[in-house]
Amino acid sequence: MKVELIDLKQRFKNEEKTIMKIVHKVLSKGNLILTKEVQNFEKSICKYTNTKYCLGLNSGTDALMMSLWSSGIKKGDEVITSPISFVATANAIVHVGAKPVFVDVGNDLNINPELIENAITKKTKAIIPVHWTGRVCQMDKIMKIANKYGLIVIEDAAQATGAYYKKKHAGTFGKISAFSTHPLKNLNALGDGGFIITNEKKLYDKIRLYRSHGLEGRDNAKIIGVNSRLDSLNAEVLSFRLKKLKEIIKKRKRNINLYKKYIKTENVKILDDDKNEINSYVMFITLSKKREKLQEYLKKYKIQSLLYYPTSLHMHKSMKFLKYGRGSFPNAERIANEVISFPHHQYITEKQIKYVCSKINIFYGKE
Ligand SMILES: *Cc1c(COP(=O)(O)O)cnc(C)c1O
Repeated sequence: MKVELIDLKQRFKNEEKTIMKIVHKVLSKGNLILTKEVQNFEKSICKYTNTKYCLGLNSGTDALMMSLWSSGIKKGDEVITSPISFVATANAIVHVGAKPVFVDVGNDLNINPELIENAITKKTKAIIPVHWTGRVCQMDKIMKIANKYGLIVIEDAAQATGAYYKKKHAGTFGKISAFSTHPLKNLNALGDGGFIITNEKKLYDKIRLYRSHGLEGRDNAKIIGVNSRLDSLNAEVLSFRLKKLKEIIKKRKRNINLYKKYIKTENVKILDDDKNEINSYVMFITLSKKREKLQEYLKKYKIQSLLYYPTSLHMHKSMKFLKYGRGSFPNAERIANEVISFPHHQYITEKQIKYVCSKINIFYGKE
């Protein structure tokens, strides 16, 4: 039996009729940029997250960069974030001229709030908590520290559409938040895409101009901007898929519960949810012993697996200038050495999960 890690092909097959209808409807109108479809999607996100403002952009990375830029983060500033993330989080900080300052993670894979105060200096301006795998950080503790020191909180909620902490949607704790609609996220477009949410009109107004060349109307450039707009076609697809998000998250939770049920070895650790959170389960990350050998073994049985990510951010060549090294963030490094992800998507069957688990159990000598 072949078991793939993700299956976007199956998703398309399942949604083909509706997607083709959307393509026809949107393309027939003859106008594809910043149309009503984009506004409608932005409105649905405001409603879904209970926020005042949303702006569709062309990636989660741009959403992070514009969140930082609109909040006034600039050269000479320091921004605290997690060493366990996708490189885009740290890159965005560097792109606005600021310096990423990493703080080690806790056993939930997210930034450890207890270690944040120690990393604050006179230059610290902001904290970017990353809701890794779709699990929201301990936002009450983080907000308390931010308020005490007057720091801006920008949430990297790229993986957290549909995730909640103490009944509040991810991305609604800080000043502004960045989301991604990359094909591998739960709410995904037909290609790259992203958006910001905020309750602050000032930030909304700035980014609204910035994302479209700084233009008000056609001829009046008020500021120097860029081109980073969510396409109308993607916006309409996202509006359609947003309606299915709750169902998708339910299925993904079921997957993880099945893995918990069928994996019989202590060598594969699956994290438990905290009682305060509703996870979006974008990624299914386990911590496993001898993972390289396990990967090879699973490959023999046509079972895909992947490492998200074997390198924590401070160990990348691109981050060398920050002068961290091995041992700087022991927990993040240990986690990077143990992460392995097994097949997890909304079309996987119980039979397939059972098969994957049986091979994992056999590998560790548990039948
Ligand atoms: C996917 C992701 C991003 C980047 O989003 P893109 O839409 O791919 O630019 C940033 N941060 C995290 C945590 C992500 O998972």
